[in-house]
Amino acid sequence: MFAEDACAKLIAGYQAIGDNVRKATNIGRSGDDRDLYRLVDKIVTLASEPYGDFLCVTGCTNCCYNLPFVTSLEWETLYAHMLKLPPAAQQTILQRTFDWFGAMLGRMIVGPAADTPGLIAMSSELSDVATTAGHHCPLLIDDRCSTYEGRPLPCRAYGHFMQRIDEMLRTPYMCVPAQHHLTDHFPKDTVLPLYNQFGARLVQLQGHDPALAFIPLWIASHATEGKLQDQINTRPDFASAVPQFIATGTRLWGAPAPD
Ligand code: SF4
Ligand code: SF4
Repeated sequence: MFAEDACAKLIAGYQAIGDNVRKATNIGRSGDDRDLYRLVDKIVTLASEPYGDFLCVTGCTNCCYNLPFVTSLEWETLYAHMLKLPPAAQQTILQRTFDWFGAMLGRMIVGPAADTPGLIAMSSELSDVATTAGHHCPLLIDDRCSTYEGRPLPCRAYGHFMQRIDEMLRTPYMCVPAQHHLTDHFPKDTVLPLYNQFGARLVQLQGHDPALAFIPLWIASHATEGKLQDQINTRPDFASAVPQFIATGTRLWGAPAPD
């Protein structure tokens, strides 16, 4: 049984962090309590203390076989970290993006026009590709997230939160094996925070009409002549970048277009 005082301390800690969520002004920039990423990281650290070897086994990379879609706000931080990677790592990321996901890029735009059935179908297709071909997030290199410090919100939170689906239903925000582990090995009074308020704050910070896409499409939209372009574009024209890639087969990747 989880000690009552430890439980109370944990809840108080969650609440203190939660109180700052609505005051967060940025993600991945200030590194303090105004930084939504920092608040999620604090929750994860807080939960890991009393639960010891928590739900997620250190070194588990299975999450990276379920590609998240990210907002332009998250992409800003992620791309800043990508640009710091050595050229060889950047090439690996680009190569995988086009080799593994090139044929799917046209369906990776999540918003604002995308509909929910389309999003679900894309997630399912990506999951199939991961299962059958082992194609994971292009940023996972040598079983490590190459942009760990700048990874998107779901990647930081997954495995340590609950999520509210509606007023009545709360489910663990984690993979099925971790859910089973939670059910089988942790006491019924295990306390996990709700992810919803963090996701909601991200949407608020993003503002209206956000650019949303799966990670490979963001990467593809920043490829120029076989390299990552120096400048970030938080509003890329996905719709024209993708047909251009499909039409030429390799133009974004930088090889000569076919006759
Ligand atoms: S949520 Fe599941 S897949 Fe993700 S790190 Fe934890 S155990 Fe691994
Ligand atoms: S951004 Fe990093 S943590 Fe997230 S799915 Fe990709 S490799 Fe995994």
